[in-house]
Amino acid sequence: MFREEMVRRCWDELDVLLISGDAYVDHPSFGVGLLGRWLQAHGFRVGIVAQPRWTGIEDIMRMGRPRLFAGVTAGAIDSLLAHYTAFRKKRSDDAYTPGGRAGARPNRATIVYTNLVRQAFPGLPVVVGGIEASLRRAVHYDFWTDKLRPSILLDSKADLLAYGMAERAILEIARRIQVLREGSDHAGERDASRHLAVLRGIPGTAFAISSLDSLWQLPNAPKNDELLVLPSFELIQSDAGTLMEATLAVERQVHQGVRWAVQSHGNRHVVLTPPAEPMTTEELDALYALPYTRRPHPSYSQLIPAARMIQFSVTSHRGCAGGCTFCSIALHQGREIQSRSADSLKQEVQTLTAHPDWAGSISDVGGPTANMWGARCAGGPANCKRADCLTPTVCRYFETREDELVDLLRTLKAVPGVRHLRVASGVRYDLASENIEYVKALVREFVGGQLKIAPEHRSDHVLRLMRKPRFELFEQFLCAFDEQSHRAHKEQYVVPYLISAFPGCTDDDMRALAEWLRERGWKPQQIQCFIPTPGTVATAMYYAGIDPKGNPIPVARSDKDRMRQHYMLAPKSESAWEDTSQTPDGRRRRR
Ligand code: SF4
Repeated sequence: MFREEMVRRCWDELDVLLISGDAYVDHPSFGVGLLGRWLQAHGFRVGIVAQPRWTGIEDIMRMGRPRLFAGVTAGAIDSLLAHYTAFRKKRSDDAYTPGGRAGARPNRATIVYTNLVRQAFPGLPVVVGGIEASLRRAVHYDFWTDKLRPSILLDSKADLLAYGMAERAILEIARRIQVLREGSDHAGERDASRHLAVLRGIPGTAFAISSLDSLWQLPNAPKNDELLVLPSFELIQSDAGTLMEATLAVERQVHQGVRWAVQSHGNRHVVLTPPAEPMTTEELDALYALPYTRRPHPSYSQLIPAARMIQFSVTSHRGCAGGCTFCSIALHQGREIQSRSADSLKQEVQTLTAHPDWAGSISDVGGPTANMWGARCAGGPANCKRADCLTPTVCRYFETREDELVDLLRTLKAVPGVRHLRVASGVRYDLASENIEYVKALVREFVGGQLKIAPEHRSDHVLRLMRKPRFELFEQFLCAFDEQSHRAHKEQYVVPYLISAFPGCTDDDMRALAEWLRERGWKPQQIQCFIPTPGTVATAMYYAGIDPKGNPIPVARSDKDRMRQHYMLAPKSESAWEDTSQTPDGRRRRR
């Protein structure tokens, strides 16, 4: 992070500079920490500027101009979501900042940081990535200004956008620019147009062109039938319904994994290359075996809440086979589950037990969904037309390995030095209900008194719009949970996560949910008023007032209508309005 650290490593310059809206934590659950280690393991010298001041360029410049490029991210969550509640009130804290202090990053951090790099290092290629760039890669609705915005690639004027999990893309970017630099006649190469051309076509990226003809000239140009043409910015501005069409097409591109997409904004065209290949088990194992310290940078004097929460959690897999319409995980990490090997997980746990801060507990073993480790599609996702693998019913080609997962959890718990091991990632109850042995083991051995479950709603027609399982399945799971807890003589509770004011949800639906909660004697605290975050199908529903098939649906759009629905379940206190966000690697944090 500092020039003195470069000197200690005998580095006279950096190859890659990463700039982040989060504090720097050297942990595999934090994107910049992970990518920094990954690039370094492949021979690149990486510097990190975390939460730079944006009133000047001093922080950006403190380690000098990097040789290859700058990578910019707003951090683990969208900067607007980090700053504002569901009712657009300013938040007073930020879990990714020392001391939990709010205000350490600017609104629209991706754009602001890119401008700073442009000022500091003219001509240096700038690549934007992370969840903010990824979910704003195409035309999107911005809830905080109540407006459509163009692709953030054009808004930020970056050279390239890396979407999804960026290990493959960022390495390829570094290698291509390195080759270009080495072949350059003069070391001071500053011709941005040469950088741009060499970066086009890398899987998992977006680039902008002025003429579609240049697309066909790329060495790996798509064939006509491989190109998804998304509704243009201008068309979406004039016809709200086409935002749904565009959003579903981007979702399809991620899920099918093979097609290119293009979206015009006036005379500029944003090209989305096919998503990067998912990581193999061996690659993931190698990535998580890098020598992370699992601590914030030593220059911080205050605790970073997110770092503390996740310090001794273990990521077992990536991706989510569910297609919840309000969630960004499948759009970012992909639907294909990428799992680490049992050996790799065991080695990580052994390493944790030797950590100087180790206190005996693993807070979580999981991923976006706790019980999808090892799951796979036995059918061939490239030709699949379904929007997700689990609803309305679990696909017959979707294979899970919950029995092996239980064995794995037991093995990890038996590692000398481990006193407790919990599963804190959300459990997909429709899958769990199909395997009573998994539920039994989970409830008896790996729940620490409370289990977080996300039924999200009571009304099946709202659940259909969310692409969540039928409510009846949640009730079945509750029975199994209660029965197993009772048999184990353990007093344990399910903590249900619920969403108010979802598109399609009426006041009557909220009353039905409130009535069900009353009947059970529950007063849930985990209630999220729906936030239309950029790029999701649910946000397209909110904006256009239609379901994915184009049928009109009621939408609580004004703050007054949203609050009325929310108050039917939640007490009138801002603390109950905490928003959905994920841990950096996609696990649910809190609401
Ligand atoms: S075939 Fe089934 S399991 Fe495979 S991707 Fe499609 S829905 Fe998922």
